Amino acid sequence: MSDESSAERSAVYAEIWEGGLREDLREVLFDADVIHDRVIEMGRAITRDYTDKHPVLMLGILKGSYPFLADLARAVNLPVTVDFMAVSSYGAGTKSSGVVRIMKDLDRAIEGRHVIIVEDIIDSGLTLHYLRENLRGRSPASVEIAALLDKKAVRKGKELEDMGARYVGFDCPNEFVVGYGLDFKGRYRNLPFIGVLRPEVYS
Ligand code: 5GP
Repeated sequence: MSDESSAERSAVYAEIWEGGLREDLREVLFDADVIHDRVIEMGRAITRDYTDKHPVLMLGILKGSYPFLADLARAVNLPVTVDFMAVSSYGAGTKSSGVVRIMKDLDRAIEGRHVIIVEDIIDSGLTLHYLRENLRGRSPASVEIAALLDKKAVRKGKELEDMGARYVGFDCPNEFVVGYGLDFKGRYRNLPFIGVLRPEVYS
C-alpha cells in the first residue's frame, strides 16, 4: 500500500475517533497505518514460509486476536482455514494468574496439520507456553506462533524468556495496552490503534 493511502487511513480514523474513546488514552503507541503495514509484512513472510506447507490452520485466540487474525489471514496468499480457541489466563485484574483454562476448544482435530497460533500479545508468556504444549500433544505437523505484540522485557522463568514466536509484529513496552482487539474490562477492543490508558481510567 502506498504511503498516501496509509496516511489517508490514519486521517479517516483520526476523524472517526476525535473526541471519543481516544480521549481515554494517555498515548498512542501504534497507529492504524503502522499496524496495517506491519501485518501485511507478516502475511508476506507466512506466505513465503508455508508455500509447501498448506493448507495452514490459523488458530485465533479469543477474544483479543480477532482484528489481527482478520487482517493477517487476508495478507496470506495461500489456502487457509481458521479456527478459534478461548482461554482464560487472567483474573479480574491486569496480571496473568498463571492458571490457563480452556473455555472453548478447537472445532476440529489438528493431527497432521500446520498450525499457526495467532495471539494479540505475549506478556508473561504463560498462556502461549501452555497452549503450545497442549497443541503439540495433539500431533500436528507443526505449531508456530504469530503475535502482534511482545512484551519481551517482562518474561518470567528461563524457559519462557524466549517464547520462540516465529512472527512478531512489534516489541511492546511494559505497559498495559488497549486497542486493536486488546481490552480493559471488555472495552476498547474496537480502537483501530493501540495505546496506553490514562491512569484515571483505571480508578
Ligand atoms: P500472558 O499469559 O502472556 O501473560 O498473557 C497473555 C494474555 O494476557 C493476552 O492474550 C492478553 O489477553 C492479556 N494481556 C497481556 N498483556 C496485556 C496488555 O497489555 N493489555 C491487554 N489488554 N491485555 C493483555
